[in-house]
Amino acid sequence: MPSAAPASARQPLWLQELEADILRRSPGEPEFHQAVREVLESLAPVFERRPELRTAKLVERLAEPERQLMFRVVWQDDRGRVQVNRGYRVEFNSALGPYKGGLRFHPSVNLGIVKFLGFEQIFKNALTGLGIGGGKGGSDFDPRGRSDAEVMRFCQAFMTELYRHLGEHTDVPAGDIGVGGREIGYLFGQYRRITNRWEAGVLTGKGIGWGGSQARTEATGYGNVLFTAEMLRTRGEDLAGRQVIVSGSGNVALYTVEKAQALGAQVLTVSDSTGYVLDDKGIDLELLRQIKEVERGRVSDYAERRGGSARYVTGGSVWDVPADVALPSATQNELDERAAAVLIRNGVKAVSEGANMPTTPGAVRLFQEAGVAFGPGKAANAGGVATSALEMRQNAGRDSWEFARVEEELARVMRDIHATAFETADRYGRPGDYVAGANIAGFERVSDAMLAQGLV
Ligand code: GLU
Repeated sequence: MPSAAPASARQPLWLQELEADILRRSPGEPEFHQAVREVLESLAPVFERRPELRTAKLVERLAEPERQLMFRVVWQDDRGRVQVNRGYRVEFNSALGPYKGGLRFHPSVNLGIVKFLGFEQIFKNALTGLGIGGGKGGSDFDPRGRSDAEVMRFCQAFMTELYRHLGEHTDVPAGDIGVGGREIGYLFGQYRRITNRWEAGVLTGKGIGWGGSQARTEATGYGNVLFTAEMLRTRGEDLAGRQVIVSGSGNVALYTVEKAQALGAQVLTVSDSTGYVLDDKGIDLELLRQIKEVERGRVSDYAERRGGSARYVTGGSVWDVPADVALPSATQNELDERAAAVLIRNGVKAVSEGANMPTTPGAVRLFQEAGVAFGPGKAANAGGVATSALEMRQNAGRDSWEFARVEEELARVMRDIHATAFETADRYGRPGDYVAGANIAGFERVSDAMLAQGLV
């Protein structure tokens, strides 16, 4: 085993101290710490070449959200009981455009999670080149098992506080885990009702009939597959004919399966929080979609109904299934060092993050040491937010584009992001390191804007 010192130990002392200081100021937020550390580990070479960024305290400024909102959300469930949740919106950075990033409704949501997501979003959004700042929000509300009416009442209560902070030029939320088309609809309805404005550009991920963009739903999964194909192509390889494992079974996972199959790969797995399904004949997307999108069921139902070729594995790790390509598309820290070691042993060639920060830092290091092409979420899953920016563009022009046009733009953005990350890594002496390339390119874009805008 190569015995490289941990990256943080190779950091210049001032950067180590700065990191410690940032972490100390946000106690009890391990995911935020992880996200900050991962970016800082890439930046030392930037400060060597551009000391003015250090003097101007760009890291200190970037790690401090411009504004953090936390609020009470009170609503009534179907049995008439009062429910109290907490709402969040972290408006992290608006140097490049209005705050932009999704809302996550999940019981695990807390300030540290929202800050990690918002921090990542700054760099991701910068990489798209589409003029969007970084933000994120959500609630510890658990939509699972709730009726439509309960979800609506929750969304209305949530928006009744959040609306005052939003606006098409100010802050534009969208979906994330637990927030899809249904929730965006209820949120938009309440925003419109309170403000008496038809302000389409205040939320993205809207329905096609009322200001939404074609291909927004598909974009994150599609984009990650395009990014993966691009990484493989750069190495003279092809996605077609490859075996792919996907984790998760939400929006990102579904459209990852669809695009991977369309490009000729065979997708063997999907998963949820209780287990995974392995389908030797390849996932039957129509059946999966019926169960997940129409019935809001579980992947265990898929295995039952699919019959012979599929089996459901309770517990266990989806990463134990041998494959050429792994696309983690569920949630943060779902792929750890143990899983990475198994994947490497099984000959994985590419790993690309559909979810945000699904791979632990130790696992990323193992992939990079083993020469596996690794696509960090900031670059690989940016297709979702990029298409949100295209939705905003259509809204601003009171326009709606055809599917093919949006998809073409998405493909172009993904190629650009890949090229930017690849070339930046090269330029800073880290060939093939998409983590460094994405972090540095995103950091430089935001930093340059902030420098130009004075003490912001
Ligand atoms: N939640 C998505 C992300 O992690 C999309 C955000 C958006 O479209 O604003 O990038």
